[in-house]
Amino acid sequence: MNVPAAARAVVQVDRLVGVLALQGDVREHESALIACGVRTSRVRTVVDLAAVDALVIPGGESTTMSKLAVAFGLLEPLRERVRSGMPAYGSCAGMIMLADRVEDGRPDQQTIGGLDVTVRRNAFGRQVDSFEAELDAPAFGVEALHAVFIRAPWVESIGSGVEVLARVAGGSADGRVVAVRQGRLLATSFHPELTSDRRVHAFFVSMLQEA
Ligand code: GLN
Repeated sequence: MNVPAAARAVVQVDRLVGVLALQGDVREHESALIACGVRTSRVRTVVDLAAVDALVIPGGESTTMSKLAVAFGLLEPLRERVRSGMPAYGSCAGMIMLADRVEDGRPDQQTIGGLDVTVRRNAFGRQVDSFEAELDAPAFGVEALHAVFIRAPWVESIGSGVEVLARVAGGSADGRVVAVRQGRLLATSFHPELTSDRRVHAFFVSMLQEA
């Protein structure tokens, strides 16, 4: 039987997971990561970045994060760490930051990149600005995942090395891709840090064990 990632992750305590703390829901990710048995630290500078084994990029506003990453001299160092194999997980705006290509972004919007996907910002549109949905996502366990979407992107297209972990089921966005993994990079359109279900963070922590 497949042991769910959540059951495996609690043994992992020796990795320092950074949370990019330029903007966004940093504290919620820290709590989720600590619950999964890792230490965390906030990343705002190149020195902070050099100290971490992995990075979580929170939800928030990707255009602001992009601007601040440039202003703090972090964008190139972040790209370099991701290129050299640092595990990273991005939720919502964090997914956008990890995407190689962005639709409906600001003209000057930069991303860290690394994930061979095209994401569409604010894809679900005004009518469903924010919504919650149950996702069938076997990678995270047999039980459906309760997902919170807030002005979320979706994944418009994926490269050949990208694995789809979850899609929306039903409604006008039926079939849209909202969770992906490519090697050591994980991204979700939704915000598991805003629920008490730790399976997505535990999955990420289990990716660190593999790295
Ligand atoms: N719409 C935001 C963006 O473009 C993402 C929203 C979120 O992270 N909740 O960055």
